[in-house]
Amino acid sequence: MMDCIFCGIINGELKGEILFQDDSVVALKDINPQAPVHLLLIPRKHIATLLDLEPGDDALMGHVVAVSMKLARDQGISESGFRLVANCGSGAGQSVFHIHFHLLGGRSMRWPPG
Ligand code: 5GP
Ligand code: ZN
Repeated sequence: MMDCIFCGIINGELKGEILFQDDSVVALKDINPQAPVHLLLIPRKHIATLLDLEPGDDALMGHVVAVSMKLARDQGISESGFRLVANCGSGAGQSVFHIHFHLLGGRSMRWPPG
C-alpha cells in the first residue's frame, strides 16, 4: 500500500528495529515507546483497521496473537503482566492505518486506559 509507514518498514524501504518476522507477521520496536517493552505486531498484509478484517483473516490474526505471546515470554514480561492493545479508529488513538497490536510491559499499568 502506497504511503503506509508499516508497509514501508515491512518491505524494507523504511528503517525499523525488527525483532521477529515470518511469512505473515513482523514485530518491531515502537519508535516512541510508552513502556520499557513496547513492540508492534504487524501483519504483512495491509489491512487498514480491525473493522476491515474479513473471515479469511481469522487464522492470520490468531497467528499474530500467538507470536505476541512468544515475544511476551522472550522479552521477559509474561510473569509480571503485559498489555496487548489494538486501537481502532482515530477516536481510539489509531494513528497508523495498517492494523497492529501494541505489546506493552515492564512497568505497572493502570485501568482504565486514557
Ligand atoms: P497507533 O497510534 O496507530 O495505535 O500506533 C501507531 C504506533 O506506531 C505508535 O505507537 C507510534 O509510535 C508508532 N510509529 C509511528 N511511526 C513509526 C515508525 O516509523 N517506526 C516505528 N517503529 N514505529 C512507529
Ligand atoms: Zn500498510
